[in-house]
Amino acid sequence: MALYSARREFNGGVRVGDLNLNAGFHVIAGPCSVESVGQINAAAAVLAEHGVRILRGGAFKPRTSPYSFQGLAEDGLRLLANAARANGMLCVSEVMDAESIELAAPFVDVFQVGARNMQNFSLLKRLAKQGKPVLLKRGMAATVEEFLLAAEYVLQGNDHVILCERGVRSFEPLTRNMLDLAGVALLLRMSHLPVVVDLSHSTGRTDIVPELARACVAMGAHGIMVEAHPDPNNALCDGAQAMPLEVAAKMIDDLQPWIELRAKTQSDAAAQATPAR
Ligand code: PEP
Ligand code: MN
Repeated sequence: MALYSARREFNGGVRVGDLNLNAGFHVIAGPCSVESVGQINAAAAVLAEHGVRILRGGAFKPRTSPYSFQGLAEDGLRLLANAARANGMLCVSEVMDAESIELAAPFVDVFQVGARNMQNFSLLKRLAKQGKPVLLKRGMAATVEEFLLAAEYVLQGNDHVILCERGVRSFEPLTRNMLDLAGVALLLRMSHLPVVVDLSHSTGRTDIVPELARACVAMGAHGIMVEAHPDPNNALCDGAQAMPLEVAAKMIDDLQPWIELRAKTQSDAAAQATPAR
């Protein structure tokens, strides 16, 4: 497989605002969908206080049923961007077509391509022709190779791609999808791109997220994505996998010592590899 992303040299990393996604560990968090000004502002305020720098929130929702909540579209994007800016955060939201790219461009810092659109090649080609970073989710039945080749479409014109593992379909009913940590390890080896792991859509639950987050830190992933909501029981979308804000905040706080341990382990290893003069 000829892969530009594998051949390419590290070149300063993928940047989102002042963040270098290739360095450190980044938590992307927020509700599945932007529902109201109160909801997104409450989420942004708590998450920012716990160090989250990238707020997520869908405005165009790719729902299985056309009768489910479809998102607030442009109004949702405006609320998301206002909440992010008011709390010193950047924001990411899903786009599904040319029209939504145009509507989202003034508001979002990162365009998300959802699992259902991983192989929407005309969407990927369009995102290659603009400069904002693209968070590309793995398709729910895509192989690692198909995922990397989808990323190549964006990389034809846009260097700023973030790979997001979000689980694949499986026979296991206890989790919504099957989180492929082996796939994450392969992505980290095969590509220079940052790799983040969506622990909410992969598991469909909240209880096992903290231990999986620790695994992501330990294996060298560049970050995680989690859904968090001020009132999950009344969420309009994906309530079962949304962490209450205080639970998300505790999970993020509890992760800090592991992130520090990883940084120390990496700097010790680097010091050992470079003999002192
Ligand atoms: C989402 O992030 O809200 C989403 C719909 O995720 P996925 O495309 O991974 O299903
Ligand atoms: Mn969701």
